[in-house]
Amino acid sequence: MATAPRFWRENESRYNLMGIKCNSCGRHFFPPRAICPVCHRKSVGKIERVKLKGEGKIFSFTEVQDGLEELNLQKPYIVAMVELDEGARVTGQIIDCDACDISIGTPVRATLRKLSEEGPSGVIHYGYKFVPIREKAP
Ligand SMILES: [Zn+2]
Repeated sequence: MATAPRFWRENESRYNLMGIKCNSCGRHFFPPRAICPVCHRKSVGKIERVKLKGEGKIFSFTEVQDGLEELNLQKPYIVAMVELDEGARVTGQIIDCDACDISIGTPVRATLRKLSEEGPSGVIHYGYKFVPIREKAP
């Protein structure tokens, strides 16, 4: 059973926004994977784990009216594909704004937030969400 190590690996990448860099083509990807989806076999042995900075811009987004039950209190909420400065694309929720505040290209920054809570025992899951960067430092 390989479920526990896999869980921890996934947790590590969620907390630290760990991605990979393919040293064959130089592209970044998230979440981490063993093989570059562009170079395939050429990337074997050339994959490096890297911590992504967590800043980028909105590539596309959608306002979700009826989604996951645990997000019911936040409805409607915004889910976006964010293109990080490194070039990797990450899907995540955009918070602290309304759909009318953002557009394609709006700069955003990853922030660690509570994702969900499990039952009365209250196991809390954390992960990344994105907030718009109101004024980006020059
Ligand atoms: Zn590659």
